[in-house]
Amino acid sequence: MPGLEDLYREIILDHYKNPRNQGSLETPPAIKEQGFNPLCGDEVSVYVEVDENGIRDIKIDGQGCSISRSSASLMSMAVKGKSFDEVGRIMNTFKTMMSIHETRLGDDAATGETERLDERSMGELIALQGVVKFPVRIKCATLPWNTLAQGLERATQE
Ligand code: ZN
Repeated sequence: MPGLEDLYREIILDHYKNPRNQGSLETPPAIKEQGFNPLCGDEVSVYVEVDENGIRDIKIDGQGCSISRSSASLMSMAVKGKSFDEVGRIMNTFKTMMSIHETRLGDDAATGETERLDERSMGELIALQGVVKFPVRIKCATLPWNTLAQGLERATQE
């Protein structure tokens, strides 16, 4: 299905060239968390501001490859304004998507999309699923998510 792959590539490039929610937030009230992927040299700073309802605002800063940058941009769109429950669900879905390569890659990829994922809830995030074919790039894609998870842990403790 080359059409679909082209679309995914376009989404990734679009978020790489025009990253959403880029910049920084004042700390405090926001929390700044930094992540680094030495395998690729990706660096990300996630600024996240929470209230009792969930993620109020999020900004992303940093530098890295197209996968890490677009993953951060897509993540920021997916979680901004969402409740902690929803954010947890989105994170789990993303994690599932990034860990299904072993079972999926054996399939004859034509129909081998991902039944176990709720794709409609993924929105444009689904564009990143092709990354699992390149295990070395998975760390690029998951870097901003792990960084956000650490930031949220701190933010909800303080
Ligand atoms: Zn990278």
